Amino acid sequence: MATGEDPLRLVVGDKAAKHLEKALELQTVGDLLRHYPRRYETRGELTDLASLADGEYVTVQAEVAKVTSRPMRNRRGSILEATVTDGHGLVVLTFFAKGRQDWRERQLTPGVLGLFSGQVSTFRGKRQLAHPDYELLEAGDDAAHAAAEYAAEMIPVYPAAKEITSPQIARSMRIVLDVLDVEDPMPRAIRDRHGLCGLGDALRGIHRPVDWADVQRCRHRLKWDEAFQLQVVLAQRRLAAAAYSAAPRPRVAGGLLDAYDARLPFELTVGQQLAGAQIADELALDHAMHRLLQGEVGSGKTVIAVRAMLQVVDGGGQAALLAPTEVLAQQHYRSITEQLGPLGQAGELGGAETATRVALLTGSLGAAARRRALLEAASGTAGIVIGTHALLEEQVQFADLGLVVIDEQHRFGVEQRDALRAKAGDGRPHLLVMTATPIPRTVAMTVFGDLEMSTLTELPAGRSPIATHVVPAAEKPHYLERTWERVREEAGRGRQCYVVCPRIGGGPGGGSGSDQDGADTDRLYGAGDGVSADADQAGGGRPPIAVLDLADDLERGALAGLRVAVLHGRLPPDEKDAVMLAFAAGSVDVLVTTTVVEVGVDVPNATVMVIMDADRFGVSQLHQLRGRVGRGRHEGLCLLVTEAEADGKSRQRLDAVAATLDGFKLSRLDLEQRREGDVLGAAQAGRRSSLKLLTLLQDEELIGEARKEAQHVVETDPALAGLPALATAVRVLLEREQADYLEKA
Ligand code: ADP
Ligand code: MG
Repeated sequence: MATGEDPLRLVVGDKAAKHLEKALELQTVGDLLRHYPRRYETRGELTDLASLADGEYVTVQAEVAKVTSRPMRNRRGSILEATVTDGHGLVVLTFFAKGRQDWRERQLTPGVLGLFSGQVSTFRGKRQLAHPDYELLEAGDDAAHAAAEYAAEMIPVYPAAKEITSPQIARSMRIVLDVLDVEDPMPRAIRDRHGLCGLGDALRGIHRPVDWADVQRCRHRLKWDEAFQLQVVLAQRRLAAAAYSAAPRPRVAGGLLDAYDARLPFELTVGQQLAGAQIADELALDHAMHRLLQGEVGSGKTVIAVRAMLQVVDGGGQAALLAPTEVLAQQHYRSITEQLGPLGQAGELGGAETATRVALLTGSLGAAARRRALLEAASGTAGIVIGTHALLEEQVQFADLGLVVIDEQHRFGVEQRDALRAKAGDGRPHLLVMTATPIPRTVAMTVFGDLEMSTLTELPAGRSPIATHVVPAAEKPHYLERTWERVREEAGRGRQCYVVCPRIGGGPGGGSGSDQDGADTDRLYGAGDGVSADADQAGGGRPPIAVLDLADDLERGALAGLRVAVLHGRLPPDEKDAVMLAFAAGSVDVLVTTTVVEVGVDVPNATVMVIMDADRFGVSQLHQLRGRVGRGRHEGLCLLVTEAEADGKSRQRLDAVAATLDGFKLSRLDLEQRREGDVLGAAQAGRRSSLKLLTLLQDEELIGEARKEAQHVVETDPALAGLPALATAVRVLLEREQADYLEKA
């Protein structure tokens, strides 16, 4: 008897186990059992031998007429040919083997009746089936009945590899299923409530189904397992989080927060007020807040974050703001120090009495600046510390870290979140995560299931909507000319423009991986493994348009006379910062850039965004990109330049972006079109590998029910002491997540 945790070696033998591990990373019986068939084949109805057509997969019932066997000419081994007939036609079955095939010759003797299935081809004018599957009928068999059964049998087709084929996997699977003894981790009551079959049945059924109904029933049960176990993990995390103590930081009257509010040049939107009040209340509690704040680009999340940070500073603590890129960290630093004015200048001439200090800590700081920032964080002089991943380093210490704010969560994993929170000493800091990627409900429940959620649904008043148009550069070249004219017009009115390209270009690395911008490569269509490049994508074989090439062309041609600058991830950090500063200050008209500008960059005077080879970007990414313009008083315009075919999928995607400003609609579309893993992001790799059958969009209802059941189970038995099989399943899930994470890191 074998259980899920047994190594495959012990069950299927060394050789098969080695291939399964090397080619498919399957180590245990459980791993193999969850290597589900990609699809099923049936051998199909019987075909008349007289009507065989090349390329078809057929099953024929026929009698062996003649068998010959001969050694191969150029290699060791033999060829066996059996001619079979059904009285109407002939077909030759060919079998190649490394050695002799006497055993087969003995099976296929003239006069024997059998069912043969395979793909039809023609060789030297004769129809043949190479290496057909076959089953011989015994003299007493009801031939018609046997034929029907054989033809209808469902054969699983597995994701396979060069070293190990689907039939070989099926063979190992049969061995495992024959000796399998699983304990069902799903509590009986839950199974009964939702009409789910047992786990053993489900595993047997999905690998050896009787019919389609069987497959559906088994898949449903196995999906439930995936959803339920993940939700149990999340429910446990929520429970544990609720138990963590944190220093309460209730709002204090007359402090920095009040002074900041008084300085704000605008009224908070209703959404900002609501989310702000919720956060203010939670910061006052003695256990840690875990909140996700989502809202469109420009919806005003940063203001909420600053207010939360100031409440904590007023309460004697410090706040850390973690940004995903250097550019963003610096921008936050600049805009927050500016907003705070004298409130952020403690110890400086002109600093307010209650003032604090804001420190910036990034990888590119010089030694002296770095030492100063570290000191300000450790001594507590800096109430607010802003930084990139550099904040996670061990040397970084805080006097009293009370709040961690993470901007753009999808770039950080749970572990990084925890690394920063660990710096709070005994208790835990409060946590606020902000994301501009609208997250469909099921994704939120799955990926961010351990966080509470606030959503900003409106943009601050007075924002002008962004108009978006597709520019079909291949069909209508004059549209592209018109695009550059628009850029010139806008610059003529003193406004600014982004031109975004999918590639950096130039240098010896042209076309290589380093040519795309670091953190963003995984979000580009057609950029490396796993990401689905559409067949109808622009430009056929030509490389995507590059920042350096295009900037050159524009400066000399269409945009001659304008101040053009380039920004991309290969620039040294200080240069990047200088460019961004210059653009923000208005001394650059046109910024030709990669997606480094994507998240959070705020230059209200920028009104036009031209996105080159727009079909290379994901829907949500385009939506985020265009959020960079129209942030000020002037209307924003986004032009999606593409050479993709008019009716192709890529163009439909672009048309959808042009047609709506509803980020939720677009993120759903994104989820439909991209592989789930890409949406969940690399940091969620472990979770991704545990979701094999579940699809976040289609299984929304199931996930919701599983979440309720899981919550109930964990509330009544947090450690799962009474459910040992479930406890084991959850432990295996966590170990896998951990292993995947370590591998990535
Ligand atoms: P997000 O981080 O959600 O993309 P920001 O917080 O950066 O958005 O806000 C975008 C811009 O809108 C900033 O310039 C900010 O000062 C401004 N803003 C924020 N809230 C309001 C408001 N209630 N009314 C007017 N402008 C606002
Ligand atoms: Mg922002």
